[in-house]
Amino acid sequence: MAATDSCDRGALSASEVTRYARHLLLPEVGRTGQERLRTARVLVVGAGGLGSPVLLYLAAAGVGTLGILDDDTVELTNLQRQIVHGTSDVGRSKVASAADRVADTNPHVDIVRHEERLTPASAHRLLTAYDIVVDGADNFATRYAVGAAAAELGIPHVWGSVYRFDGQVSVWAPPAGPCYACVFPSPPPPELAPSCSVGGVLGAVCASIGSVLATEVVKLITGIGQPLIGRLLVHDALAMTWASVPVRRARDCAVCRSRRPSAALDVGADDGADEDGAARSQPSTTPGDQVPEISATDLARALTGGALLLDVREQAERDIVAIPGGAPFPLADLRGGALPPMDPGAVVHVYCKSGSRSAEAVRLLRSAGVDAVSVRGGVLAWVAEVDPTLPTY
Ligand SMILES: [Zn+2]
Repeated sequence: MAATDSCDRGALSASEVTRYARHLLLPEVGRTGQERLRTARVLVVGAGGLGSPVLLYLAAAGVGTLGILDDDTVELTNLQRQIVHGTSDVGRSKVASAADRVADTNPHVDIVRHEERLTPASAHRLLTAYDIVVDGADNFATRYAVGAAAAELGIPHVWGSVYRFDGQVSVWAPPAGPCYACVFPSPPPPELAPSCSVGGVLGAVCASIGSVLATEVVKLITGIGQPLIGRLLVHDALAMTWASVPVRRARDCAVCRSRRPSAALDVGADDGADEDGAARSQPSTTPGDQVPEISATDLARALTGGALLLDVREQAERDIVAIPGGAPFPLADLRGGALPPMDPGAVVHVYCKSGSRSAEAVRLLRSAGVDAVSVRGGVLAWVAEVDPTLPTY
């Protein structure tokens, strides 16, 4: 359902500025971060205990497109923890119930309803339209299907689980960190698999874990803080402790070893965290189609010939390090349909931190008829290959 005034993907409207004022006051978020939230597309798998707080907080935060996936109906036993649904929703589809609540929370959100079960056969199709997937599934088959499709498509898999008084949460994003199957290579046998329907769950624990999930999504979209990649948070609500356990990629992981690097977003630790450096030797790719690339070394030659260079990063990143001669042009503006000033027929070179955002920018430019190429490895490759005296981040 379209929002009342969300058709304009450019500047925030006056009512949006008022709505998001407490975000805009945060320098780390600001208008740029809020606009990135509005152009983001997030799929929430499961409108249950974890999906409930995630959907409400992401809707309130102004995530522009929220996909809601569930094949279940609301039952009375759900209401003890699944706070996106109300008593009058019992018997309704969870997707319909959650969509109504999300629309009431924030009419600027475009809601995509997926009233179906996510399976290995459907996962790729379902995830391909999104930048991030949040996994609040209540069964192992769905979690593995989400993990495999997310790794294949190169989108961050923000994952959580709860049982009784305990919870776990992490962000799977190979190659910056492990995928789900790296850390949990196989599901437990059915007779040992914990189930909230049998063992129970304290409702508010869902909010604790769900709040972490929503926070991580906002961080990934806005590019702030240290994402929960390569770390597993383990929560014990009775002791009220949170332990952060380092987790690493499995060298023999069949799910992510040959998959694409995360491309939808530049995610925190970026390409360099892989323990064997595999990411550095791989060309950056994007979900869908390949984009033309140029190496940093070749770019240096092209720039001496007057090549046009765009920097699609945020100002805070530019303040740290930049390729000389690059012109700032935010990715959010490209997503909103704006184009940089240029001579007709000119080739536009685009760079970001490591090549992920620039790949998306190149796809946007090429779809608008502009001849554009992405700088492979971004400014980090420039520092490594052209000017090692420059700082990195
Ligand atoms: Zn893996």
